[in-house]
Amino acid sequence: MRPLLVTFPRRAPFALLACSLLAISTTACSSSDSVAPAVSAPTITVAGVADGAVLESGVTIFVTIDSGTFEATLNDAPFFSGATIAEPGSYRLEVVAVNAGGTTTEVVEFEIRFSGDSLLIIRMLDLGENEAGGGGDALIVTDSSAVGTRHVLIDAGPAGAEAADVGFVLRRLQELGIDTLEVLVLTHAHSDHYGGMGPILNSVVVDEFLYNGQVRSVAGYQSVLATAQARANVFTVPSTVAERMFGLGEERTTLSLIPGLPDNLGTSTNDGSDLNDGSIGTRIAKGSFSMFVSADGEVDANLRWRRDFSALTRDVTVLKVGHHAGNDAVFDAGFPGSGTSWLDHTDADLHLISANGTTHPRIGALNELLSRAAPTLCTSTHGEVEIRAAADGQWTVTVERNEGAACSAGRDATT
Ligand SMILES: [Zn+2]
Repeated sequence: MRPLLVTFPRRAPFALLACSLLAISTTACSSSDSVAPAVSAPTITVAGVADGAVLESGVTIFVTIDSGTFEATLNDAPFFSGATIAEPGSYRLEVVAVNAGGTTTEVVEFEIRFSGDSLLIIRMLDLGENEAGGGGDALIVTDSSAVGTRHVLIDAGPAGAEAADVGFVLRRLQELGIDTLEVLVLTHAHSDHYGGMGPILNSVVVDEFLYNGQVRSVAGYQSVLATAQARANVFTVPSTVAERMFGLGEERTTLSLIPGLPDNLGTSTNDGSDLNDGSIGTRIAKGSFSMFVSADGEVDANLRWRRDFSALTRDVTVLKVGHHAGNDAVFDAGFPGSGTSWLDHTDADLHLISANGTTHPRIGALNELLSRAAPTLCTSTHGEVEIRAAADGQWTVTVERNEGAACSAGRDATT
């Protein structure tokens, strides 16, 4: 089916938002309140959900106050007005507002119960700009079914200018109410993929840490591995394709994780220049839907995935293009005009690019992708991208911003 594009609202930290038609209480919108004396304690309005509600779908919640400032938490994690809560579970939203007249606290407790339909959700996070090279990757994979909701994270950023915001992916997990990861996958030993893992390993229950066994002495990488050894219940380096399944029967979500290319698993003095082709490649499948996550795989990895793991990589629904859409990840010999066997083999209905918008996407790779019938979405242009696939293979994709716009090449990209 053709993907459906819908824009969902951007998160706004502690924003004082205008009154909304969704408001369940209109107190803050009344004319009398708008001219209320400043000595009165603030009035809090929570829109989108009522206290005690039991919902069967996700909800977008807006918090407004008539004066002063407020802070909000959802299950003790910071909450941002305008956020969408989609994960089944029990929630307690607490808002504390302060002005010169005093302090007001509002608590709303609610529950999201999944209707029972089996659903796969894949979120490719927008990691913003990173002048250090590559905005990084972070994909949250969620399977919801009658047996519960399970989450996997493939890579963890970082995010932001100069890769400074190592807590970004953790905060996104907390916004979504995710406190347990069945598997945390590190595809390879580059900091734009492992940089956010320390805070996650220290704050979230990680049942299994799975990586490619790459050797590299750089301190940040060693720290993540040591933390994973200490915190994860299982520490895995797969030597053959590792399968992890979530959900029920034929409707379950299956992850097939392909070990890294043996020639690219590093040395103790590795400078990081040849690690991309050692990336773990991941097929995510549910019913007739499939996605291949190429991490930073380039020419050699693509050739091996195509030749030795054809059944896992051929004719996928969605391809996460390798290496933030570098030319090495798209063309047979790494430059335009040298063939597109990998794109022809995967033959995706949708191409996704996780890129910083500065060095990537590369011009040649992006032009090749845009010349194809399948649409291409980029985090640098479209923000966070969310795919939802049902057990029958029906799927939709939503973008955070710029719905309908074409991806732009990185503004500093020259090839
Ligand atoms: Zn990367």
